Amino acid sequence: MVEQRTVPWRGLVRDIPDFPAPGVLFKDITPVLADPGAFSAAVDELVAWSLGRGVDFVVGIEARGFILAAPIAYRLGAGFVPVRKAGKLPWAVEQEGYSLEYGADRLEIHADGLPPASRVLVVDDVLATGGTASATVRLVERLGAEVVGLGFVIELGFLAGRTRLAGRDVHSLIAYPATPEVDRT
Ligand code: AMP
Repeated sequence: MVEQRTVPWRGLVRDIPDFPAPGVLFKDITPVLADPGAFSAAVDELVAWSLGRGVDFVVGIEARGFILAAPIAYRLGAGFVPVRKAGKLPWAVEQEGYSLEYGADRLEIHADGLPPASRVLVVDDVLATGGTASATVRLVERLGAEVVGLGFVIELGFLAGRTRLAGRDVHSLIAYPATPEVDRT
């Protein structure tokens, strides 16, 4: 279920219609990142939600996920592990295909990037259709690690990404509702 919450910096998220393709309403978090109070609040909230989960590694998804995952890992005293688009990582990789709101792509993780049984928090800026996050979960689990939570700044409830993460512990700071026109949060 999509949470109905309000964060004071919600208005800093910039809507960009038809980017990067017609029909997509892009949620631009760069004004959030540029605002010291909002950036630290977003990181602090995701850290607070993650405390007590015994997180060993924070997996950040390229590219905006890196910006959030790195300070969260630092604050949790955890390691940072990147999941990147195909062809970017220099060592042996595991790979997963996925579809997203505006296309299809492949994601990779270093084959030795996570020790078996390690506890992993997955972080990205936006949960849209859930294709990216679910592919990342498959990569983490293929290495024998355990996903103990998935944290996002923004969740687009109308794209129902949570349904592709059924049974997972998912947290978002700003959840846009199931009907895009009716924003009740
Ligand atoms: P999805 O796999 O459909 O959940 O898409 C999530 C990924 O694509 C995240 O890495 C986001 O950065 C990006 N993304 C998808 N849709 C949007 C959107 N409407 N606004 C901003 N980023 C998006």
